[in-house]
Amino acid sequence: MICVPITARTKKEALHSIERSCQFADFIELRMDLINGGRLEEFIPIARNNSDSIKIIVTCRKKEEAAPAGRTVLAKSTARNSEEKIALLKEAIGLGADFVDIELAEGQAAIKELQAFCAKHGGKTKIIISYHNLKETPALTELKKIFHQCAKFKPAIVKMVTTARTIEDNLITLSLISYAKERSQKIISLCMGDKGGISRIAAPLMGSYLSFAAVEKGGHSAPGQFTVGEMKRINELLKSSRTVPEAPVLSMQRPQPQNYILLGNPVGQSLSPIMHNAALKQMNVEGTYSAFCVHDLRGAIQGMRAMNICGASVTIPFKIAIMEYLDDVDDDALKIGAVNTIINHHGRLTGYNTDWLGLVVTIREAMPIKNKTFVIIGAGGTARAAAYGIIKEGGFPMIVNRTLKKGEILSRKLNCPFYSLAEIGKIKADCLINTTPVGMYPKDKSLVKAAIPGNYKYVVDVIYNPIKTKLLKDAQKQGCGIISGLDMFVNQGAGQLRLWTGKEPPRALMKKIISERLNQIEE
Ligand code: NAP
Repeated sequence: MICVPITARTKKEALHSIERSCQFADFIELRMDLINGGRLEEFIPIARNNSDSIKIIVTCRKKEEAAPAGRTVLAKSTARNSEEKIALLKEAIGLGADFVDIELAEGQAAIKELQAFCAKHGGKTKIIISYHNLKETPALTELKKIFHQCAKFKPAIVKMVTTARTIEDNLITLSLISYAKERSQKIISLCMGDKGGISRIAAPLMGSYLSFAAVEKGGHSAPGQFTVGEMKRINELLKSSRTVPEAPVLSMQRPQPQNYILLGNPVGQSLSPIMHNAALKQMNVEGTYSAFCVHDLRGAIQGMRAMNICGASVTIPFKIAIMEYLDDVDDDALKIGAVNTIINHHGRLTGYNTDWLGLVVTIREAMPIKNKTFVIIGAGGTARAAAYGIIKEGGFPMIVNRTLKKGEILSRKLNCPFYSLAEIGKIKADCLINTTPVGMYPKDKSLVKAAIPGNYKYVVDVIYNPIKTKLLKDAQKQGCGIISGLDMFVNQGAGQLRLWTGKEPPRALMKKIISERLNQIEE
């Protein structure tokens, strides 16, 4: 399990960093000694709104306890003494943090006080008792003694972190993991420093409870920490069965064809291959676009790297799951929480999202977005992309969804209203957008009664097969302007081609090809 330390200097950066980290990490550690400004009562709810499953650790090291991770200035809020630190950890317990970290050096009285406070608050928050040695790795007998001093308080986790002066120091600290396991004590054990990198890779494989990694370079909380991308690449290599041929090291003399793929399941009905192949030909790009029905996403990504595939589209059901296999995810895709496009740049895979732009460009061609209100039906990947684009353009989204919990989480994240499907008759807005698959060929269905579109000036359906869904037919009868998913499909595809080739795609040709094919299907 990966824990991302939040070490941002300002409150604004911290909030951004929390949002980003919740997409990747299993845990975040709020380093309250490093964040300048901002309070736990803001940070903890933001993290919960961004992820149902994220676990939150709250830590506040005193100046002399914090490892110098290239950071010399600590936050003004850094606890100056033990009283301030215990008060902050108690606040974290009151706010429902999953873990608080207290150093063994704080002493028995402070640790017991914190344990009693946890118990009084229902015991939801667990305690990590930690030992950090910023200078060296003591001998194993000494470390075992310290481990027992921590373990005697029966904490949820013992954390033992030393500084590696030699590569062999890693072996000493790592051996504590099996020692703790034999005593049924959960442990985090690793070495800091340039020579401690091996322990950060080996510790999770040996059973250390979690490993720390920064979202990006410069965001580390201790020397020697890897980024999440680096950790994942190393783990991929370690887990790989090595049956896939290595990518050629030397470049070929002749320019390689630029091949692209679609990763999804199912993909049999996808119209992306005919659209992208026609566009690549028109753009004079030598290469092909082929659909792959994926059963093993990790294997598919290994194959993509090994075969030097230049880029990929990602579709249902992998738009979220794909993120953990990529080296980087751009800011828009991270905020949306879904990737539909990958670029392979010399083996480094970066994820993007063109769905939001495809939809925004399509709506903008029919109506302005700024200061207009939009009801979005659905709370999946496309709904998130739609809401993101609308907010970015100055519009106001509202969410309507079948599953209340999913809809509520999304609307909390966007800070916008949420309604159940049963309540949709009560709402009026400038535009209604269906982002669910209901209405897709061959079923001529709509999620809302025929009169409902009358509450809107425009109605958008992201479905493009059929071009005119039942919802759009009902909307037309009510006198609304209608916008089909066909244009969004073409615009998101054009966005992918632009990212892959840097050239302007032939949108009119792409639309013509898809319309012709859809008309054949309907006949
Ligand atoms: P998703 O992440 O699985 O989300 C689907 C959403 O639809 C969920 O919120 C789900 O509600 C809701 N839903 C599904 N079936 C429903 C039903 N029978 N009744 C009520 N609500 C239902 O899927 P997605 O990636 O957002 O894709 C959604 C659609 O958009 C697909 O048809 C896809 O082809 C289309 N799309 C089109 C374009 C384009 O370019 N035109 C681009 C992207 C996607 P719950 O939360 O209750 O499960």
